[in-house]
Amino acid sequence: MLGDIHANLPALHVVLEHAGKCDSWWCVGDVVGYGPFPNECVKAIKKLRAVCVCGNHDLGAIGSIKLTDFNVDARIACEWTGEVLEDSSKDFLRALPQRHTTKRGELVVHGSPRDPVWEYILSTKIAALNFSAFEENICFHGHSHVPAIFSTRAEVKDKISETAVELDSVKDGSRTVLEDGKRYLVNVGSVGQPRDGDPRACYAIYDSDGRILTFHRVEYPIGEVQQRMKEEGLPTFLIERLALGR
Ligand code: ZN
Repeated sequence: MLGDIHANLPALHVVLEHAGKCDSWWCVGDVVGYGPFPNECVKAIKKLRAVCVCGNHDLGAIGSIKLTDFNVDARIACEWTGEVLEDSSKDFLRALPQRHTTKRGELVVHGSPRDPVWEYILSTKIAALNFSAFEENICFHGHSHVPAIFSTRAEVKDKISETAVELDSVKDGSRTVLEDGKRYLVNVGSVGQPRDGDPRACYAIYDSDGRILTFHRVEYPIGEVQQRMKEEGLPTFLIERLALGR
C-alpha cells in the first residue's frame, strides 16, 4: 500500500526495494505534486500496474481542480508539475478514479470516503462521520501524510459518535491483525513527504488472507531530492520540510 508519493522518486525506489515482491500494489493518490520527479513516479506506478486513485495534487497538476484552493507553496509546485508533465503522464492521471473498491471489497480513496479529494481524517470526530459514509469494512486512504488506524464496532446505519471510534497511531514495524466485527479507516502514510515527525518514507503491507497490516519506515537519500528541488526552483519550505518529516 503506497500513498502520497509526491514525485519523490528516491523515496519510492527504496520503498519498492524494501517491500520486495507483492501480489498487487495499491496507491491512495498524490503520485505527483511537491517533488521534482513527477514523470518518473507516474512511470513507476504504471509499471507496477497499481490500483491507483487520484489525489488533490494529481488533479491540481492537470488542471482538473482550481489551484486557488491550494496553499501558496503547494500551488507553485502544482504549476511547476503541470508544466513538466508529459502528455502520457497527464493522460494517466486524468484516467484515475476518485474511489476504487477491490474484488475483496476494500475501499481505496485519497482523502476520505465522503470527500475523496479534499477531506483530511485526523480526528476520531471526522473518522466517525466518515464511518457512516461507506459500506465496506475497510477503507484505505491518505492525504494527511500521517499513518494511523481508526476503527469502530459501530455499523454504517448506526449514528456513530466519536466515542465509538478508536485511534491507533502506528510506527515502524507496527503490526495489527484486523478483527472481525470491526470496521477500519487506515491511513497508509506518505512515501514522499511524511508529516508525523519521522522523515523516513512510509508504506504499509496488507496481508489480506491473515488480515494483517504492517507499517514500515525506510531511510532514503533526502539530500538528493532536496538538491534537485533547489535546481528546479521549488519553494524552500517544501525543500526543508522533507528533512523534518513535518
Ligand atoms: Zn498529499
